[in-house]
Amino acid sequence: MEIVISEFMDETAVDSLRESHSVTYDSGLVDRPNELAGHLERADALIVRNRTQVTAELLDHATQLKVVGRLGVGLDNIDVAECQRRNIAVIPATGANARAVAEYVIGTAMLLLRGAYLCSAQVAAGDWPRTALSNGREIGGKTLGLIGFGGIGRLTAQLGQSMGMTVLAHDPAISTDAPIWRESGVQCVELDALLAKADVASLHVPLVDSTRNLIDASRLALMKPDSILINTARGGIVDEHAVAAALSAGRLGGAALDVFLDEPLPAASAFTGVPNLVLTPHIAGVTAESNVRVSQMIAQRVAQALKDAATNADDTRIA
Ligand code: NAD
Repeated sequence: MEIVISEFMDETAVDSLRESHSVTYDSGLVDRPNELAGHLERADALIVRNRTQVTAELLDHATQLKVVGRLGVGLDNIDVAECQRRNIAVIPATGANARAVAEYVIGTAMLLLRGAYLCSAQVAAGDWPRTALSNGREIGGKTLGLIGFGGIGRLTAQLGQSMGMTVLAHDPAISTDAPIWRESGVQCVELDALLAKADVASLHVPLVDSTRNLIDASRLALMKPDSILINTARGGIVDEHAVAAALSAGRLGGAALDVFLDEPLPAASAFTGVPNLVLTPHIAGVTAESNVRVSQMIAQRVAQALKDAATNADDTRIA
């Protein structure tokens, strides 16, 4: 069968697919949509990360497509309803990059709470800002508020607890008496209470209508002025202008943002010159280790889905 891979994937996993399938692997295809559409005319499977927009228009070119593998977990770049309508399976790499994201959250929280690790150029130049940098804070004993308590939220809770943090979470899909709260030692709270109490608030929700602009200026105003906001979920969930304004005015202690409304972030963005800010290019879930885990999982699941599709087709022919 024919598999098209339009974004980067671990080579060993690609080779494992080549053993039984014809594979077109070109990590630049995502930026050449006409060429991608041409390849899809013969494709049985398409494998993407988060940049390839799997729209109804693209699917019109892919009349043989049986499966879309997603090298990650958010599905906002895939028209899942349209795939369902066309009987195309959508397979995310659930859990395979959770560790990478959870470590990013704890790592950036420590960096921003301590506030002392960005002075290398000053120290190398002979400055000695010891007094100015002696007020950094420890992560132990702080309160971590998780907005979204799914796979990544739960792993982040465990890492936070192992650092001595108290963990709160808000997730409307989990009832207040669900066993997970007792089992995890995480306190279930409403969103506004979480924002008011957290020293570090971190987002782990999908981008859907109910989460768009979830953290706007009025919600940011509920946060303590020395608290930290971390968004590894998706751009569009946090109001970027409101975060930049709150940091500049000292109404927010720090922020780490890995995802943005427009990616790449435009050069003259709201964040130019804003203090206590860590910006990264959508890499929270991407490490050397997670790339291998995600790619292996998707290679195996896509191969299995194609096998199942072939078996079903045989059964239909026999019947
Ligand atoms: P998940 O589906 O396991 O958990 C998401 C949770 O959010 C669910 O429990 C859901 O009930 C909850 N939720 C939905 N709406 C909510 C709301 N309004 N308020 C609070 N909770 C709400 O997903 P996950 O694996 O934990 O991943 C979460 C998100 O992280 C993904 O959707 C993706 O967008 C993002 N992500 C980003 C990266 C990255 O590299 N930056 C990597 C992986 C995942």
